[in-house]
Order: sequence, then C-alpha cells, then structure tokens
Amino acid sequence: MLKVPLGERRYFHVPLNGHTLKVLSEAGLKVRSFTLTANLLSLTVSKYVEEIKCTGAAGLDRNLRNLTYGNEERVIQYDLSVVVRIAKTTRKIVSSFKRNDTRIGRGIASKYGKRRRSRINHLLNCATKQVVEEAYHSKEAIVLEDIKGIRRLYARGNGQGGEFRGRMNSWWFGEAQRQIEYKAKWRGVPIIHLTKGETRGTTKDCARCGERLQVAQQGQDEMKHRRQLWCGRCGRWVDRDINAVMNQSRRGRLRFDRSLPNKAKGEAGEAMKGNPTTPVILRVDASKMTRRGIPKSYQNHM
Ligand SMILES: [Zn+2]
Repeated sequence: MLKVPLGERRYFHVPLNGHTLKVLSEAGLKVRSFTLTANLLSLTVSKYVEEIKCTGAAGLDRNLRNLTYGNEERVIQYDLSVVVRIAKTTRKIVSSFKRNDTRIGRGIASKYGKRRRSRINHLLNCATKQVVEEAYHSKEAIVLEDIKGIRRLYARGNGQGGEFRGRMNSWWFGEAQRQIEYKAKWRGVPIIHLTKGETRGTTKDCARCGERLQVAQQGQDEMKHRRQLWCGRCGRWVDRDINAVMNQSRRGRLRFDRSLPNKAKGEAGEAMKGNPTTPVILRVDASKMTRRGIPKSYQNHM
C-alpha cells in the first residue's frame, strides 16, 4: 500500500501491484515522490549505485537485423530481424486500408504505428537488458561508437531492405543507445563512448591485422558473403558485425588500460598480445527470448 497522509492522522491507501512491489523491494531504493491522478500512480525512485570494477571491455554494434555484443573472448548476437518483419507487415496493413477520408487513414496509421513501436520497443528492451546483464556479470565496460553522421547506417549492402531503412535506422539506433545507457547506469556498468576518430574504421579494418577489408566482388558468391568482408592479408572472410565489436572492444580497452595502475596495465597488455583467437559466438533469438515473461494480453499481438 502507498499510504497518503491526509492530515489529522487520516490516511488514504493506494494498493500497489506485485510488479511495483517487486521493483520497490530492491535494496537501496528510495521513493522520492509520487503523483496521483484519477487512474494513474507515478512513483519517482532513486538508487545510489556504485560503479563496478571492470576487468575488460566489450563493444556493441547496432544494425537493423541484430545487436552484437562482445570482444575477443566471445560474441553474443541478438537476432532482431523480426523487427524488420514487424515493420514491413505493419506497412502492408496500413497501406491496405483504402479510405477516402484522409483523417481516418491517418488515425489508422497512427494506431498501427503505436502498436508497432511498442512491439519493437519491447524486443529492443529485452535485448538491451541482456546486454547490460552480460556486461555486469562479466565485469566489462560497454563500448559504444560515435554514431553521429555515420553513413554506413544508410548504406546499401548492409542487408537491410530498402524503403524504410533510413527512418527505422535513425530511430532505433538512438533508442538502443538510450536504453543501454540508462540500464547500465542503474547497474553501475561503465560506458565508454568512442570519439569520432576512435570510431573510424571499426567496420572497415580487420580486427586481427588492421588491413582495410573488402566487400565481395562480382563472381565471389555475393549472396553468401553479403554480411562478410574479405581480409586480403589474413586471407579470410570476416563477419562485419563481429569484426566491428572486436575493433570497438579493443579501442575501448586502450582507453580503459590507460586508467589502470601500472601492474594491472602490464597484465592487460599481455592478454591483448599473443595469437588472436576466433571468439566463441553465441546467437540469441531476441523474439524467442522475449516470449518468456510477456503479459498474456501482449502475446496476442506478437
Ligand atoms: Zn586481417
């Protein structure tokens, strides 16, 4: 119950649901204020969070089909291709309504738009939560690249189907970053923001040798290699998302090592040298992952 004092030792009780009580039961949490309207109770809470002591860093790459997180040791890929399908389906539904009254048309579009956004948002929320938990348990700082004005987001050949590429991209790149940032703050996981200069080349240079990577040329089985890049020096195909997070994690790590005491710095340096190994790759289907724990009313829309 939320006990609201009415004066003269009288109180008004507002029952709180299980979810709210669970959230509020977290140690160190303080309710700062509340707002009560006819059908809504809004609680503002605060928590003192101690930043975790990191022993490593891992990069995060966002694109339309997946969220990729990892470093030399392991890479986890959250499959978000279902988001593309949701967006496409909704487009079809909206465009199949042929109404003369544009106001009705607009109403429908906005209703479907809202549903689409909430579904996509939900999938994204599950994936970003997992990323932050992964970072927390592995004691890693999350390395984010500077996405402002990066043309590759809109580039062809990113395996992203045409029409809504630009709009979707710009919306959810920002959204994924926003979610990662606040969730990380809440868990005490540090974030390393790469500068524009540090971001340069993360997708184009080979994480193993630094050579500029090439896209598949004609006659090189372009379909098979459409998410891959060729390193002429290593003589191998690399997955562009995995290569990107490995570059990011290393660049973030450099920043990170500078702030460590000398002894730790030496050990970290040793760990970075030696033969680069191919990381273990874990793939997680975000759409399946999120089906667990979704309210029943919501599942009908999935
Ligand atoms: Zn190479």
